[in-house]
Amino acid sequence: MNKDDFPILQETIYGKPLVYLDNAATTQKPAQVLEAITYAYTHFNANIHRGVHHLSQIATKAHEDARAKVAEWLHADNPNCIIFTKGTTDSLNMLAFSFGEAHIYEGDEIIIGMQEHHSNIVPWQMLCERKKAKLRVVPLREDLSLDIEAYKQLFNSHTRLVSIAHVSNVLGIVNPIDEIIAFAHQNHVPVCIDAAQSAPHMPLDVQALDCDFLALSAHKAYGPTGLGILYGKEELLKELPPAEGGGEMIEHVSFEKTTFNTLPYKFEAGTPNYIGSYAFAKAIEYLEAIGMKRIYAYETELTRYAEQQLSQIPGVHIYAKGLPKQGVISFNVGNIHPYDVGMLLDKQGIAVRTGHHCAEPLINYLKIPGTVRLSLALYNTKEDIDRFIAALRKAITILT
Ligand code: PMP
Repeated sequence: MNKDDFPILQETIYGKPLVYLDNAATTQKPAQVLEAITYAYTHFNANIHRGVHHLSQIATKAHEDARAKVAEWLHADNPNCIIFTKGTTDSLNMLAFSFGEAHIYEGDEIIIGMQEHHSNIVPWQMLCERKKAKLRVVPLREDLSLDIEAYKQLFNSHTRLVSIAHVSNVLGIVNPIDEIIAFAHQNHVPVCIDAAQSAPHMPLDVQALDCDFLALSAHKAYGPTGLGILYGKEELLKELPPAEGGGEMIEHVSFEKTTFNTLPYKFEAGTPNYIGSYAFAKAIEYLEAIGMKRIYAYETELTRYAEQQLSQIPGVHIYAKGLPKQGVISFNVGNIHPYDVGMLLDKQGIAVRTGHHCAEPLINYLKIPGTVRLSLALYNTKEDIDRFIAALRKAITILT
């Protein structure tokens, strides 16, 4: 794991070396990814799939190779299960619309968790409003983990889908998705996993997990912005209608009737982000060269170290303290507003996020204005944590 692979990490902020701890929002990009973007625009930029000309064929191959790379990374059984989207939000909206059109009727129920990001709440809520269906929310236990017994109680004959985050972007808690999926399947209910915060940080095997759908964002996994993945089991995707109409997703168009393309193109209306997909494949190659298992082990230890160091500071309240976390820790200091802490950390070159982290229902449940959140990536080190801790101590001295 090498910081030098990430040019932006050499930047200084207010004259101080940057310590970037806002990786749950977006990760920085290794040089390979940055170079891939320039290379693609310089050497083979051409619109894909439609062109007989040379550049278009190279660009098409790069895009389809990238799809195969993502499939291999996620252990999907074939590349047709991989749909390129704009990001996790787009993937979940696409699924909510498409699944909703095919399978949701008045009185049906969709289960989500209390700790979801807005993008795993609002699309389902909008679907429920459209179809007069009902959103059911899994409550949290006192320790802020998902209440799995309560989850099981939510199932009834109207339950049609479960959509749950693998790792909470606020609390860092890793949800027991094996158990969540197994129970849903016992009840013949499919499960969508929001893997925005897990895919970049741990090995994922969609076939072993047996999840039916999975969403992630390339930009949180060292890839470019504006690209995401919706994975779905092929037999399930096949029976869903397209979510958007336009070029690429059609077989034939007439004013009387349009027939749709096969998977995965049926879900990819318009010119796709083929430069992004090419660059994302380079990000995945970078991750694979290190090894997802190694990244997972390294970040787990770093998270444990950060929580341990943080818990030694008087007045710091860590949310979900002691629970197994992956790369994300939320905290507050006494009654100090999280924004003030974040601002004073920033002045010392430390980038963290403050606020509701797009999870307002969770923050309201906790009855707080927000949290300070540090989130780790493979390039962070114990020295980063030590600098963060020293800066936090200084901020607290100023604020109290
Ligand atoms: N789900 C989770 C758990 C997230 O952390 C995020 C991003 N913070 C999203 C969904 C949305 O991702 P994007 O903004 O890339 O679509």
